[in-house]
Amino acid sequence: MQKRLSWVIVGTIFISFMLLLVIYILSMRSFWIKGAEEKAAVIAELVQDGLSAHMLSGTMDQREFFLNKIASAKGIDSLWIVRSPSVIEQFGKGFNNETPRDEIDHEVLKTSTSYKKVIESSQSAKLRVSAPYVAKEHATPNCMACHNAKEGEVLGLVSMVFDIAEIRTDGIITSLVVLGFSLIIMLFVFMSINHSMKPLMALFDSINYVMNKAQMGDYTRRVRVEGKNKDCENVALWINSLLAKLESSLMDIETTIRKFLFVAPSHQHDPLLEAQTIVHELSDIYQFKRTIEFDESKEDVYNRMGTILMDTFELKDFALIESGKHAISPRIVFDAMQTQKSPHATCRALRTKQSVYSDQFKHICETCAHVAPHYVCIPYVISDEFELLLSATASSKEELERIKEKLPLIQNYIDGARPELVSKDLMQILKISSTTDALTGLYNRKYLDEYIEKALAQAKRNGIVYGVLMIDIDYFKMVNDTYGHDVGDKAIKALSKILQESIREADTAFRFGGEEFLVLLYQCEKSMIESIAHKIRIKFEKTPIQANNGNSFYKTLSVGVSIFPNHSDSIWKCIKFADIALYNAKEQGRNCVKIFDETMLEGKEMKSDY
Ligand code: GH3
Ligand code: MG
Ligand code: MG
Repeated sequence: MQKRLSWVIVGTIFISFMLLLVIYILSMRSFWIKGAEEKAAVIAELVQDGLSAHMLSGTMDQREFFLNKIASAKGIDSLWIVRSPSVIEQFGKGFNNETPRDEIDHEVLKTSTSYKKVIESSQSAKLRVSAPYVAKEHATPNCMACHNAKEGEVLGLVSMVFDIAEIRTDGIITSLVVLGFSLIIMLFVFMSINHSMKPLMALFDSINYVMNKAQMGDYTRRVRVEGKNKDCENVALWINSLLAKLESSLMDIETTIRKFLFVAPSHQHDPLLEAQTIVHELSDIYQFKRTIEFDESKEDVYNRMGTILMDTFELKDFALIESGKHAISPRIVFDAMQTQKSPHATCRALRTKQSVYSDQFKHICETCAHVAPHYVCIPYVISDEFELLLSATASSKEELERIKEKLPLIQNYIDGARPELVSKDLMQILKISSTTDALTGLYNRKYLDEYIEKALAQAKRNGIVYGVLMIDIDYFKMVNDTYGHDVGDKAIKALSKILQESIREADTAFRFGGEEFLVLLYQCEKSMIESIAHKIRIKFEKTPIQANNGNSFYKTLSVGVSIFPNHSDSIWKCIKFADIALYNAKEQGRNCVKIFDETMLEGKEMKSDY
């Protein structure tokens, strides 16, 4: 930069001075040509006046001395006078052949116009001037007094050749002196400009280098100053302090963020751009955390996480699996491909709680290898109670690598979701414990109230049929009385286990009272309801109950059945009808299933209530 600028300065100064010099030489030239021309005009006038004087004084024959005197003046090469044809006619050719000597003389006589021309070569420089004498009646002396001529007629001319080589040489010498001085001044100007520009240029070069490095993400370089220029030092100081601030702030941001956020190895080499990316990621995670705070359940959070994994992280085939100490575990909580595959407990990552990558070892996880050749399974510990497993498959090795690169950022989202998942899990446990019966794990009466509200609204809309079973153990009091309360509890537990095993996922069993159970069979035909009721009855009948003395005994149960909405469009009435049917079953000798019909209401006070 500095060199380039020096050349620009030198070039500019040189061109300016050369231009000035050329202008100077040209004006000098025209000045000395003009001087010679003026001299010629004066001589022409002098010659005319001298000749007139000779004429008037009658000494015309002695004019040669006069003309020779003038012609010998310094700078005049030759001088001659020419008579016009009219003068030759009146006075003769003159003693010195005063006739035109060349074409120029003829031309001037003809046109009565002065002629001036510089004839130059490298050796010589001449100025040829030919000036006409024109007859003027009113001039002093009056030309017409002696000449037989008309006003304006050319009487003759004087031609002169001046040697202007000396003037030219003087001019050239002067120009060379000017040139010499100019060069000295130019050199001086250049040196002083160079001297004052040098630190500025050095500073500029240093800023250029430092900024170039900063632009590429290296903020460690500093601007250097050459010499002791105060302004340059200030500029360097400001830029350097700004760079130092930037460098330390970026380092601070990075180390602070790394304490709580996993920052993936970046492809960017610019910490400023990296900080910007991290801030965006933080903002996204913050946004995610704020959103899931107001989500109702753990399932909502899982759905949101699944959506982010699909949209933000562009994962295609993956599932989120929850596993832990809960009853229904492991279970798929989000399935991107909706394949509804049930998670295998044999999945290596689920079993070992270690990350599993398909490229770690051939067929590292038989379960996953069966599904796809490329896969990753990452277990994330959410709390002491449960873990979340991300199980993703890839179509190629490259895609697997891409997924692996995204894992640290996914970890940030999991970390962000962890407190919400834990609190929502606790809430769920609390809710479950308040709605389930501690002895049997079945839903309690409280949950029945809630469930009925939701289920009924849906059932009415979609025309869903429910089978209502009211189940009661026969002569249960005897168990307590004979074997004690603990054994009675065992019998109750045995029945609830049979209930859970005998019904489908869509069906729900409740502990209605002491040894009384309510089962709601979802979308079930009458024959099916009856067969399920019998299945339960027979199973229980055949289930031995362990007494404390090592012996076992068998119990039976009775079932009352009603159908919603066939018997009533009020589910509560249907429950009551099932209870009446149960009462009927007891009356009919117990260990049987009775389906409600209107005749069962006969003779009962409560008939009017329904
Ligand atoms: P049936 O139903 O055949 O008419 O005769 P039952 O002997 O079963 O009569 P009932 O249904 O009236 O008796 C219920 C008994 O169940 C009364 C109570 O002591 C007992 N019970 C209620 N809750 C529990 C419980 O949680 N544990 C135990 N062990 N017994 C209970
Ligand atoms: Mg009973
Ligand atoms: Mg009872």
